[in-house]
Amino acid sequence: MHRKIDVEALCAEKGLRITDQRKVIARVISESEDHPDVEKVHARAASIDPGISIATVYRTVRLFEEAGILERHDFGDGRARYEAAPEAHHDHLIDVETGRVIEFVDPELELLQRQIAEKLGFRLVDHRMELYGVALDRKG
Ligand SMILES: [Zn+2]
Ligand SMILES: [Zn+2]
Repeated sequence: MHRKIDVEALCAEKGLRITDQRKVIARVISESEDHPDVEKVHARAASIDPGISIATVYRTVRLFEEAGILERHDFGDGRARYEAAPEAHHDHLIDVETGRVIEFVDPELELLQRQIAEKLGFRLVDHRMELYGVALDRKG
């Protein structure tokens, strides 16, 4: 599901000025498959360009988010986590013990949500589905 999304190309498309530091941050997010929080994005970006501050990362992810280039998630631990805005819709299952995020799409579930909205008199335009779980095969 995680095709690499070219955040830098999206910036150009949306007319965002792309500085060297923004370019690094864009690349880090494009290459991340784990829905990192700002601290993780910063650690990865700083390993490429040590001059990138966490404040710059905060500003840049906010800018990217406002431009619709990134999606922000709250997976229940109080830290905002980011991914490049996906081309195709998917939902998330979060391992509450490790924080690992698993992406999935279930057509029946998608349909059911539309039907529920219709029953309530609405045409569904968006939704978020987050499942929180503990691995069945985890010991102890
Ligand atoms: Zn969904
Ligand atoms: Zn995702």
